[in-house]
Amino acid sequence: MGRKGAPLNTPVKKDKFLFLTKDKAYKFPTPPQMHNKGNYIISLGNLGRWLAEQAESLGVEIFPGFAAAEVLYSPEGAVIGVATGDMGLNEAGEKTEAFEPGMELHARQTVFAEGCHGSLTKTLVKKFDLRADSDPQTYALGIKELWEIDPAKHDLGMTLHTIGWPMDNKTYGGSWLYHLENNIVSIGYVVALDYQNPYLSPFDEMQRFKLHPAIKPLLEGGRCVSYGARALVEGGFQSLPKLTFAGGLLIGDTAGFLNVPKIKGNHTAMKSGMVAAESIVAYFDKHTEWGGECESYTANLKTSWIWKELKKVRNIRPGFQRGLWFGLFNAAFETFTMGLAPWTLKNHADHAQLQKASESKEIDYPKPDGIITFDKLTSVQLSNTSHAENQPVHLRLVDPNIPISVNLPEYAEPAQHYCPAGVYEIIKDNAQNYTLQINAQNCVHCKTCDIKDPSQNINWATPQGGDGPNYPNM
Ligand code: SF4
Repeated sequence: MGRKGAPLNTPVKKDKFLFLTKDKAYKFPTPPQMHNKGNYIISLGNLGRWLAEQAESLGVEIFPGFAAAEVLYSPEGAVIGVATGDMGLNEAGEKTEAFEPGMELHARQTVFAEGCHGSLTKTLVKKFDLRADSDPQTYALGIKELWEIDPAKHDLGMTLHTIGWPMDNKTYGGSWLYHLENNIVSIGYVVALDYQNPYLSPFDEMQRFKLHPAIKPLLEGGRCVSYGARALVEGGFQSLPKLTFAGGLLIGDTAGFLNVPKIKGNHTAMKSGMVAAESIVAYFDKHTEWGGECESYTANLKTSWIWKELKKVRNIRPGFQRGLWFGLFNAAFETFTMGLAPWTLKNHADHAQLQKASESKEIDYPKPDGIITFDKLTSVQLSNTSHAENQPVHLRLVDPNIPISVNLPEYAEPAQHYCPAGVYEIIKDNAQNYTLQINAQNCVHCKTCDIKDPSQNINWATPQGGDGPNYPNM
């Protein structure tokens, strides 16, 4: 256990890195960025709960169960805080007897820390044109399960990463497998969202990954106890937006500070929060007005280790746009030259990378066996997802016709494949007419639909209250 009871119980003991083909596994040297000496395998959910206790003991007020649903602006257009969502609206958005209006929280500086692809950050990026001088953000979708395995197979503190199968050479992705305390293994698969085949399903890639001969024996005799999915940012240094604007700033993954070669963003998220706090305190010493811009935050980040760390690895992830082998070669070169190459590779918007269905091959995923592999709805049950039924749908289509008139004929409506919770279903009636059914109650809040929809027609909004997945030890 760490200081003040921090839930740091499992130091990493050894790192392993495998290249997989369909039937074989080859041991590769672990890339330097992926060495975990001195790190701990933890549950981020449990760390977050512990951090909340520390913050509250210092006098910070936390409002769990109230998502920030709206940015508040002054008449001059500066951010002056956020409002939580209204409660007690019915599906049509009308007030019911249980209606309670959202609460306004005002602040001279508002710090946005929404995680990857924040729904409010998306509106701020547009309003303040925060991407005018940066590349588009790029993303991946991570699918995660916790397994309780046979104690005889458990190897406390061991971490394993794989590349290769089941991804083809054009698609960037890989897995992790970490041995936590209490015979628990965290296993997951990450698929970059610049994939091209509209039939690809990251969820089903994860399921078939578990059937590999290097993985399956570990899970046999165990049971899956938890499931979750979440997008993560991959754009790195060249995709960082402008970080400050009138009345507020961005920190953590909503800004895009994840270090992809390390597959870690918690350290940069924490550091950006610390730099933001220090910058705002110093800013308030000199400024008393509302709606100012705390520009020193960006200046202070540029002299912190975050900037250096992200700049050094900026070309590694975009190198994989040209395929696995070029990507590996480029990663070795960039690591050897410590990122000193005079060029910066570009990032491209993920939603624009899909090929037409007519140019793509359908993927025949194996049927779930209910023992090692599962279907989406069984998995969603393990995410403890709950949304009150009578509320406005939180997945909003800008144009309700586009899924059937554009996405289905051109891209086989990829939402029915990429959504890891089976939220989007194409239904064909007796007259051979198609409709899109949105099972919003299953949504695990991964944000992929808001990112990958080729028509950019889906807006993910915060559902009522604290509705959504409830991950106990993830
Ligand atoms: S509906 Fe969208 S945000 Fe929800 S689980 Fe599916 S892809 Fe993720």
